[in-house]
Amino acid sequence: MSGSLSIVGLGPGSEAQVTPEATQVLMEATDIVGYGSYIDRLTPQRFVVLHRSGNGVELERAREALNLAVDGKKVALVTSGDPGVFAMAAAVFEAVDAQPKAWASVEIRILPGITALLAAAARVGAPIGNDFCAINLSDNLKPWALIEKRLRLAVEADFVIACYNPRSRARPDGFARVLTLLRQHTESKRIIAFARAVSTQHEQIKAILLEDCRPEMADMQTLVLIGNSATRMIEQNGKRWVYTPRLVGLRKSQ
Ligand code: SAH
Repeated sequence: MSGSLSIVGLGPGSEAQVTPEATQVLMEATDIVGYGSYIDRLTPQRFVVLHRSGNGVELERAREALNLAVDGKKVALVTSGDPGVFAMAAAVFEAVDAQPKAWASVEIRILPGITALLAAAARVGAPIGNDFCAINLSDNLKPWALIEKRLRLAVEADFVIACYNPRSRARPDGFARVLTLLRQHTESKRIIAFARAVSTQHEQIKAILLEDCRPEMADMQTLVLIGNSATRMIEQNGKRWVYTPRLVGLRKSQ
């Protein structure tokens, strides 16, 4: 009999931000599959088998997890944040879609987690109090021209924009190009927040104006939030908060 595959989001880093549902599934799993650094975040139960894989081999990792489930195992496939946001849930369905018969009997469940965008937004204040979108700045799986087009249109539509995967060693120049594009299409006082390693001991939060941004301020552990034209910075209780008002395009007194 086939087993099951739970695709589990571990949240942004802190154990306090792992859902009770995820903890329960991890306790019951016979096999846990994931990128090494996510496996390192777990406190494994005694009898569980850990399957570490390298970064950037998502489809292979998805097939490995599905194959273990076909063999009757209770598999947990772990990802950071939420498994549906630029992560393994889509990779699993790509594998299933390509070979529908191979894994037809596996029971698949997706367990949501706190995605980096939500964890970062909560630290910064309320930057996504109005309409927002999320863009993955990695051009591993899509052409750079499409990233630029989406950014340009998102700025034109005045969305708050969350940028995942802003900058890596393999792609050191992409984020510099993003800043250039923003400087061409928005005002220099636009508020940008850099939220790095949120909820871990290396957490760093910085909210500044576009004119003061430098490409090195982002790395692979950073979520970059680009404010919209109404996003504001305010002081309260000795702290600087960033928020985007809910009201736009209407005059109302509340
Ligand atoms: N599934 C994950 C995203 C994977 S893409 C999620 O839902 O959060 C990896 C990107 O997520 C990183 O490059 C970074 O932009 C962001 N990220 C993940 N964890 C983060 C954290 N603790 N703090 C800030 N950004 C984080």
